[in-house]
Amino acid sequence: MSTTKYIFVTGGVTSSLGKGIISASLAKLLQARGYSVTIQKLDPYINVDPGTLNPYEHGECFVTDDGAETDLDLGHYERFLNVPTSQANNVTTGKIYQTVINKEREGAFLGKTVQVIPHITDEIKRRVKLLGSTGKFEIVITEIGGTVGDIESLPYIEAVRQLKWELGSNCAVVHLTLVPYLAATGELKTKPTQHSVKTMLEYGVQPDVLICRTEKHITKELRKKIALFCNVTDNAVMESIDVETIYDVPLMMMKEQLDKVMLAKLHLPLRQEPDMEQWKSFLGKLKNPVSEVKIGLVGKYIELKDAYKSIAESFIHAGVANECRVDLKWIHSEKIMKENVQEVLHGLKGIVVAPGFGDRGIEGKIEAVRYAREKKIPFLGICLGMQCAVVEFARNVAGMKNAHSTEMNPSTPYPVIDIMDQQKKVTTKGGTMRLGSYPCTIKKDTRAWQVYGRLKTNERHRHRYELNNRYVKELRKSGMIASGINPDSGLAEIIELEDHPWFLGVQFHPEYKSTVANPHPLFVSFVKAALNH
Ligand code: GLN
Repeated sequence: MSTTKYIFVTGGVTSSLGKGIISASLAKLLQARGYSVTIQKLDPYINVDPGTLNPYEHGECFVTDDGAETDLDLGHYERFLNVPTSQANNVTTGKIYQTVINKEREGAFLGKTVQVIPHITDEIKRRVKLLGSTGKFEIVITEIGGTVGDIESLPYIEAVRQLKWELGSNCAVVHLTLVPYLAATGELKTKPTQHSVKTMLEYGVQPDVLICRTEKHITKELRKKIALFCNVTDNAVMESIDVETIYDVPLMMMKEQLDKVMLAKLHLPLRQEPDMEQWKSFLGKLKNPVSEVKIGLVGKYIELKDAYKSIAESFIHAGVANECRVDLKWIHSEKIMKENVQEVLHGLKGIVVAPGFGDRGIEGKIEAVRYAREKKIPFLGICLGMQCAVVEFARNVAGMKNAHSTEMNPSTPYPVIDIMDQQKKVTTKGGTMRLGSYPCTIKKDTRAWQVYGRLKTNERHRHRYELNNRYVKELRKSGMIASGINPDSGLAEIIELEDHPWFLGVQFHPEYKSTVANPHPLFVSFVKAALNH
């Protein structure tokens, strides 16, 4: 394969402008022109990975096939591109320093002072080029987290400066900024963008393309003005106006000719017109649903929509597959009690109990399961949600009073959910859960088998606790079937109820594998069941 090309996406003025979606959209357009593309995220914080971060701090932790706990932007990359990411796609300052310090201890720099430049920047550059060196990608897009000017992101911008110099036309920089609208004067203002580009220039990086996030259309004159002040060509000033859904962004950027301008900067041929037919048909169905279905998502982080990002997106994909709009109602598990469960969950056509850790809100989740089971409402339990389903069934159907997970109650008389054997000796927290993709064998003639339409699948995991195999037989007698099993360890991966129209609990996270091109069968089937309810 010819030389890999590198595109960097930086952000200025403020955070939350949507660098992740712009990166994913650019990648989508290049992919639609026939290029093999991957996206990487560099995060400037000192945690080695976001696995130990509270969702309030950082939203959902996304998990890759090879078991990396990563930033939620990687979820967007996968959902847009339909190509799995890996450990190499998310790098943090923590990872960079850990590698450099370990090397220093090994004696790799004997006699030398270890410094930010060149040692830290060299490690950043090595990590950027790692994906290119796999030979799998013609273009690597690297999104730099944070905002230009932050102390934390300085070494990354310096690495970009060095790479730009080193790689010449094999490298380009996209800078995303804000063009705010001042209602009082009725004007769009370009000064923040000018200043942001000036900051980039102070660090020695000239952006090649400017994408301006805006609420109102940016006129030709304004684009010219920005181009003049920021040393870019007129056609390289693009607008990214607020849109209805993130899935509009690739087509919007196609109109702005982001793909064409980018390929020209990288001296690459246009190849074909972007093949966006499937994407357009997805969008068409997304915007014109035939029906609507109300599904409840029970969790403890509902104030923060990012905490369950992949689940919410999976429901968008599954809704489109069923030509309906899923109206996802976020329900706080701490607010659900025996006395009010009917009132809170009334009218829902499906109930999901979310993944999670710890005791807070657990009884509300268990109560929600009971309601779904007794009222025969379609139910999907994900990870902790599946564990709640087992606890509820053990307590209320199988007669195991005070059954629980040992995560919540270590002295329960019926530890139906217990820590996995290989987790017992683990003493540290970072990256030590059962993580990543594991195979699952599905039992024939079960609901799970109908859903998947096959006997084997692979799904991604992130947990320490598991259905205790000691109780599987007893639960079976009462009507709970372990319908998916890990063929190597014998761990139950899927449970379901015999006497229920659609009741599944999965120990893995199907939401990490749902994409626009491949909506996950569990979500698709669940939404269908909810529609029929
Ligand atoms: N806390 C549970 C466990 O560790 C569930 C984890 C999850 O929902 N991701 O097994």
